[in-house]
Amino acid sequence: GFCQRFGITTEFVDGDDEAAIRAALPGASLLYLESPVSWVMSELNLNKLATLARDAGAVTIIDNSWASPIFQQPLLCGIDIVVHSASKYISGHSDVVAGLVIASQQHINNIARHISPFLGGKLSAHEASLLMRGLRTLPIRMKHHHQSGMALAEQLHAHPQVTAVCHPGLQPQPWSTLRGYSGLFAFEVTEQIDIPVFCNALQLFHMGVSWGGFESLVMPAVSVINQASEFNSAVDFGVSPRLIRISIGLEETDDLWADLQQALATATRA
Ligand SMILES: *Cc1c(COP(=O)(O)O)cnc(C)c1O
Repeated sequence: GFCQRFGITTEFVDGDDEAAIRAALPGASLLYLESPVSWVMSELNLNKLATLARDAGAVTIIDNSWASPIFQQPLLCGIDIVVHSASKYISGHSDVVAGLVIASQQHINNIARHISPFLGGKLSAHEASLLMRGLRTLPIRMKHHHQSGMALAEQLHAHPQVTAVCHPGLQPQPWSTLRGYSGLFAFEVTEQIDIPVFCNALQLFHMGVSWGGFESLVMPAVSVINQASEFNSAVDFGVSPRLIRISIGLEETDDLWADLQQALATATRA
């Protein structure tokens, strides 16, 4: 809807479906990607998609907020333009709203001259200094998110009330371009788990739509599914209502595991 106001037509294609992407590319100007994919966390084959798009004359953009520049560098895979929500890992403290674009001089000049003057969006000096501060600890924070997220994904995977864990590290793809994993992933629970009770029983995870900060957060898919259908009833959000997304912060891994376990026990229907 938003893009149509600018005369841009869009088509959603499953990033795992190579035939569908090949079919959609002729005539397209842009292939816009996110990998791993939101909620389901499947990892796309960036080298292959970049080649397909280039052969079709389309520019590629990837949202690389999940991996951060520490764990994925898509320009090395042939992607043209990398965007980040700097509000997530790069700031790391949930106190800045900012974004980044990384691309060749030619693309940056185009954005700086023809696009950003008309869209506004100026970072204040204070917020810029908070981003600089966040950058200093980004590598060590990502290391912790990686270790803690991976450990908790494995523990959840073994829990009897958990039917699936969506984390790209559990079954890495042969084409993986990730050097590590951040702390955002999702898991699906059995019908026996009362999801609102589970979310409210958590003591260390707050409810929140953002992620990538020092504090752990939880967001059940149902809330986003309900919001999407209020916005446009024709939209199929495409994920299971049994899915729960968590962002693993910088707390002790053992404390987070104890919290997840007690909340699952509390939310299990008799
Ligand atoms: C949060 C988010 C955005 C939007 O970023 P803001 O900085 O909140 O405007 C874009 N992409 C992804 C993947 C996000 O998670």
